[in-house]
Amino acid sequence: MIVLTYFCSMEELLEKIGSYKKEIGEFTGSDKNAAEEFRIKYLGSKGIVKNVMGEMRNIPAENRKEFGQILNDFKLFAENKYEELKQQAIGNTSDLSLPGDPLPLGSRHPISIVRNKMISIFQRLGFAVAEGPEIEDDWHNFTALNLPEDHPARDMQDTFYIASAGAPEWLLRTHTSNVQVREMEKGKLPIRIICPGKVYRNETISARAHCFFHQVEGLYVAENVSFADLKQTMYFFVTEMFGPEVKIRFRPSYFPFTEPSAEMDISCLICGGEGCAVCKHTGWVEILGCGMVHPKVLENCGIDSNKYSGFAFGMGIERITMLKYQVKDLRLFSENDLRFLKQFTSVV
Ligand SMILES: [Zn+2]
Repeated sequence: MIVLTYFCSMEELLEKIGSYKKEIGEFTGSDKNAAEEFRIKYLGSKGIVKNVMGEMRNIPAENRKEFGQILNDFKLFAENKYEELKQQAIGNTSDLSLPGDPLPLGSRHPISIVRNKMISIFQRLGFAVAEGPEIEDDWHNFTALNLPEDHPARDMQDTFYIASAGAPEWLLRTHTSNVQVREMEKGKLPIRIICPGKVYRNETISARAHCFFHQVEGLYVAENVSFADLKQTMYFFVTEMFGPEVKIRFRPSYFPFTEPSAEMDISCLICGGEGCAVCKHTGWVEILGCGMVHPKVLENCGIDSNKYSGFAFGMGIERITMLKYQVKDLRLFSENDLRFLKQFTSVV
């Protein structure tokens, strides 16, 4: 071990640093052992660099700043050389024929998987995807859709209104039907669209309800569109989504924007119709609402209801996803728990 305490002047110390630098510059070695040998000799806890740094205390105060810079440069010089030796050692021991490190495969969110599947099914029937704003005015979300002033859905308890001076005109859309209205107002017929997107309702969050969720709605307006067209379209959708063995049934219902209106059930996927907890022992599970577009809605959007007719439908993507993948709690979709999300890796 080199002992530096014999240095008696700055000149001698500078000279010594110079010769160490020369020595370092000439150091060669191409394996891990050489790099380690270098590290111990120059950069170890009893190495030369540390030793030279220790000389600082013998330097007169007025020269310390200047000398400190020289010592730092020296240290950096040795460190760079060590890095270089390490890289050389790695280069010489790498086997380029080894397989690479696997990159972990991510997954799409289950809501995205199902939304994309729904879009592709309807696209095969000629439906185009239409989108619209999530912050909407009262007309496009309610009035144009034939929801009267006193309809409970317009209640402050159910809808998120955006605070503004005056009347509660602006709100977070409660369904994607606003996109249907906007498309109809454009006046380009026939219309064959689906509207996927996020919607908001002032609900208490539970396993079965959330303050936001996703919908896909559909609209077909042309001449001579009938309820038979609606039934066939829905039947095609569910068999593509859930398999050819699924059965459907329509139950009469009421929505302000369709007449006649229906809710559609599919045969329970768990028990095949025999009755279980999921279908509450009825053998049927409700999946969507639909109907023929109310003539008043067509007129509100400037479409001649004597010439044109249409059907519309709407469903929650979360609901379809829960049925398809047997998810029991709606909250899992927005909690970002990787233990849940990783289960969908293989579906991508
Ligand atoms: Zn069942």
